[in-house]
Amino acid sequence: MFLELFKGFAVTFKHIFKKPVTFNYPEVKRPQPAIFRGRHRLQRYENGLERCVACALCAAVCPSEAIYIEAAANDPEHPIGAGERYARVYQIHQLRCIWCGFCEEACPEDAIVMGPNFELAGYERSKFVCGKNQMLDPPEKGFGKPADLKVNQPL
Ligand code: SF4
Ligand code: SF4
Repeated sequence: MFLELFKGFAVTFKHIFKKPVTFNYPEVKRPQPAIFRGRHRLQRYENGLERCVACALCAAVCPSEAIYIEAAANDPEHPIGAGERYARVYQIHQLRCIWCGFCEEACPEDAIVMGPNFELAGYERSKFVCGKNQMLDPPEKGFGKPADLKVNQPL
């Protein structure tokens, strides 16, 4: 009996001075690996223009038909995106999404990426339709600027 007690205390003392592996969520969030597929983000160039050119490849490749896009022509004087067209409406239905990452892989412009945000709980079904305003990132750093385009209006 004493041997079992000793073994139990030995295990306790072995771990008592080790660094904890738990996180005090939600105050402390566990860092996600780079390949983590969390909530989608729409990227911009560093001059503010949206990378998405509304080609709809992401919607075509999506196995659960979770992406809805409406394209519009860019006004050359006041462009929203870097291409001829931009996504006037871009929505992802997150209850349909199976987080496969196909949209990210298919995008020729690296416009849609899956970020580290895993906090996707909600109380209303309508809240799970994610619009552009929820997905657009601030201008990014480190990507090249598209040529001959100016941002003439706040984006
Ligand atoms: S992660 Fe997969 S299921 Fe979700 S929107 Fe992208 S392609 Fe569709
Ligand atoms: S996110 Fe990428 S694949 Fe989808 S419409 Fe925009 S440019 Fe095309």
